[in-house]
Amino acid sequence: MSQGLVTASYIVAAVLFIMSLAGLSKQESAKAGNWFGVAGMTIALLATIFNPEVTGLGWILLAMIIGGAIGVRFALKVEMTEMPELIAVLHSFVGLAAVFVGYNTYIDHGDMSGAILNIHNTEVFLGVFIGAVTCTGSVVAFGKLRGLISSKPLTLPHRHKLNLAALVVSALLLIWFVQVEGSTFALLVMTLIALAFGWHLVASIGGADMPVVISMLNSYSGWAAAAAGFMLSNDLLIVTGALVGSSGAILSYIMCKAMNRSFISVIAGGFGTDGASASSGEEEDGEYTEVNAEDVAEMLKNSSSVIITPGYGMAVAQAQYPVAELVSKLRAAGVKVRFGIHPVAGRLPGHMNVLLAEAKVPYDVVLEMDEINDDFDDTDTVLVIGANDTVNPAASEDPASPIAGMPVLEVWKAQQVVVFKRSMNTGYAGVQNPLFFRENSVMLFGDAKDSVDNILKAL
Ligand code: NDP
Repeated sequence: MSQGLVTASYIVAAVLFIMSLAGLSKQESAKAGNWFGVAGMTIALLATIFNPEVTGLGWILLAMIIGGAIGVRFALKVEMTEMPELIAVLHSFVGLAAVFVGYNTYIDHGDMSGAILNIHNTEVFLGVFIGAVTCTGSVVAFGKLRGLISSKPLTLPHRHKLNLAALVVSALLLIWFVQVEGSTFALLVMTLIALAFGWHLVASIGGADMPVVISMLNSYSGWAAAAAGFMLSNDLLIVTGALVGSSGAILSYIMCKAMNRSFISVIAGGFGTDGASASSGEEEDGEYTEVNAEDVAEMLKNSSSVIITPGYGMAVAQAQYPVAELVSKLRAAGVKVRFGIHPVAGRLPGHMNVLLAEAKVPYDVVLEMDEINDDFDDTDTVLVIGANDTVNPAASEDPASPIAGMPVLEVWKAQQVVVFKRSMNTGYAGVQNPLFFRENSVMLFGDAKDSVDNILKAL
């Protein structure tokens, strides 16, 4: 393959990646977007492997076969609910790869000297720093999502000062590294600091902010890849890394806006602390009313408008199929049925949309939180299927609540609310939900799939 053909392939791949992102931004075009991404990546890989400068093809193919086999196995095995964990692990690999590429090009930098060597050393230093932060940060995010590490924020004394010190010392080490023309000591010390910094950064962020952390790490992994692209003088890696880095940053910003939190306060960590954890929301208890599936079927028969707000529990129970059946049954009977989707419902952005699309729920009845929040007043029945934090009135009514200020689906404004869950346990943020004790709320206990199946039978 000639160098010109490699460059042309890189441009085609970059365009395909941009088309992929554009496609993935809408449900209708998401499948096509995915294919554009696959095509772009295939072209990129082929062009990189068959680049005339590349040697050791046998090793590359062997690594690809082993890595590919492991990847395919995990991708086939992973449940939809475990997807964020898989993404977190993959991010840690990107970070680790950037660290290795950094050390590799540091040891073998050819015959650079003067200003060029200084620029190269700066690239190496920054690449290793971003890569190391991404690596350990992602490992902690994985541990928290998997439940191996407590989802409570780690609050070391002077944690902000520790973070600041890590950044300042790393900046000083960068100056030393460049001035002493590649001091190994500076690079090694910075790597250790960056590994600890990444660990601490994510460990001090509480469970409810994990969605933002995942997309933030997504962004970091992009910048780590871009840094690796600079070190390897690979234009496509720079473009791809920048695309991932900036789209991750934009997604983090959108999510912060959806949760009414500032990006800085999320990264600074400690959500759910500062004395707020002993809020009235947590203490609130009271009487709740339990109903059975027949009662809910009766309620639905007497309703003319119904909104379903799904959450993580619907994903765990895999209840989307009977829910879709329930929707078509109700619609056939002339009931106006719609879905209200919170931006961080479930365990990854778009989680609910994917599940509902899988169960072939028509797109036009699936509305975003902002589109539907004003309609709860005129709604007869709301079915809260496995959602908890995303429908918690304490977020808007109790300033002391750990989730205060997060916009939520205002389900309590409807005539009646049915909450599907298995127990009175809290949701992801670990905050009690006063909705359950409201006069217009009733609880339908049990696995969400069984409950919906029973309602279908009763209907
Ligand atoms: P929550 O995690 O707040 O609550 C889920 C509820 O589902 C629980 O109360 C649980 O109650 C119930 N449940 C679990 N399994 C079942 C089952 N088989 N059948 C019936 N009910 C079940 O969910 P939400 O979707 O409302 O909120 C998402 C939370 O996750 C937010 O705090 C968000 O910040 C966080 N998060 C979101 C991410 C994202 O990007 N979307 C990523 C990471 C975290 P019980 O145990 O009693 O059944």
